[in-house]
Amino acid sequence: MSRPAIAHIRLDAFRHNYRIAKQCHGGKALAVIKANAYGHGAVQCANAIADVADGFAVAAIEEALQLREAGITAPILLLEGFFEAAELPLIVAHNLWIVIHHAWQLEVLLAAKLAQAVQVWLKLDSGMHREGFPPAEYASAYARLSQHANVDKIVLMSHFADADNLNSQYTQQQIEVFKQTILDLKGDVTTNNPIDLLEISLANSAAILGWHQARGDWSRPGIMLYGANPLPEIGDSSNNILQPVMQLTSRIISIQKVTQGQSIGYGGIFTAEHDTTLGIVACGYADGYPRAATTGTPVAVDGKITRLIGRVSMDMLFVDLTDFDHSIGLSDVGIGSSVELWGDQVPVNAVAVAAGTVAYELFCNVKRVQFHYSDTKF
Ligand SMILES: *Cc1c(COP(=O)(O)O)cnc(C)c1O
Repeated sequence: MSRPAIAHIRLDAFRHNYRIAKQCHGGKALAVIKANAYGHGAVQCANAIADVADGFAVAAIEEALQLREAGITAPILLLEGFFEAAELPLIVAHNLWIVIHHAWQLEVLLAAKLAQAVQVWLKLDSGMHREGFPPAEYASAYARLSQHANVDKIVLMSHFADADNLNSQYTQQQIEVFKQTILDLKGDVTTNNPIDLLEISLANSAAILGWHQARGDWSRPGIMLYGANPLPEIGDSSNNILQPVMQLTSRIISIQKVTQGQSIGYGGIFTAEHDTTLGIVACGYADGYPRAATTGTPVAVDGKITRLIGRVSMDMLFVDLTDFDHSIGLSDVGIGSSVELWGDQVPVNAVAVAAGTVAYELFCNVKRVQFHYSDTKF
């Protein structure tokens, strides 16, 4: 028997969430499948929506080439563009779209000798201060790109810093900066391109779900495609319109009993206040379950919610089976019982909050476990 830690990936749920993202935002949607589709498997996820996806977005050319090799022909945007000039021939050969976010990239692109023009997504820094041209330099960057033979179509884009915080006005301010910069662009630029027809792209998942003012021609949903709602206010509600894609499960491989006053696991950070039945689960931080998760983090055993206790170790963790013992007896829950770490019964956001992180990081960290792909609900 092989180790029972499994990430079940439901591709039908992924398709469902892509449809929801498109419906919520309208227009076209680039499915963001960078970082191996947030740990879910980029090729599998891309194939699952290849017939309906308007395009894909990844972080680097290696990720894009993997998709092209797998037969994905839809547009693929490199969210940080290229990192060095040597990538440009491949970008042209594989018909990739590139973000241009900095003056050095613009100079490299315009100095290159390309066999064909590339589509550019010109990034404005509207307030995140990570990537993008400052508003004062945006129009001139646009003008230089739009007049150059290396550049095909230009899409105007920006990215939000705080869209998952519905109580903050920062997203609204970023929208205003973007709008004003586009107005200035129309005033400044002397070009043959009909600027009114330029496409724009602003919204990530949080903006798609929470900021209806932030609409554009293209949305860029990421985390919501995997079924994790980035808005904490509605993240755990029962009428969540998103379906979890990853269900991380394992099994109980040992049962221990401790008496009041005994402490368990590394560091003995949990001391039993009364006689306690422990289930030892074959899943640990080497599988991506967060070591920072504390006693009380929800876990489901045979469909019933209980709690993590003690310190998560590399290959195993403890769950509290004391109540199972009293209510339904150990004959029902025991060695081999199935355990859901997150998925249907345990929202990934609940684990993320307990571990002081976000669902993004939990998903990206999943490794070593078996990946089982399915296309129907089970
Ligand atoms: C990762 C990324 C996204 C997707 O963000 P989510 O919060 O996962 O929806 C969108 N746009 C850019 C530029 C990104 O880097």
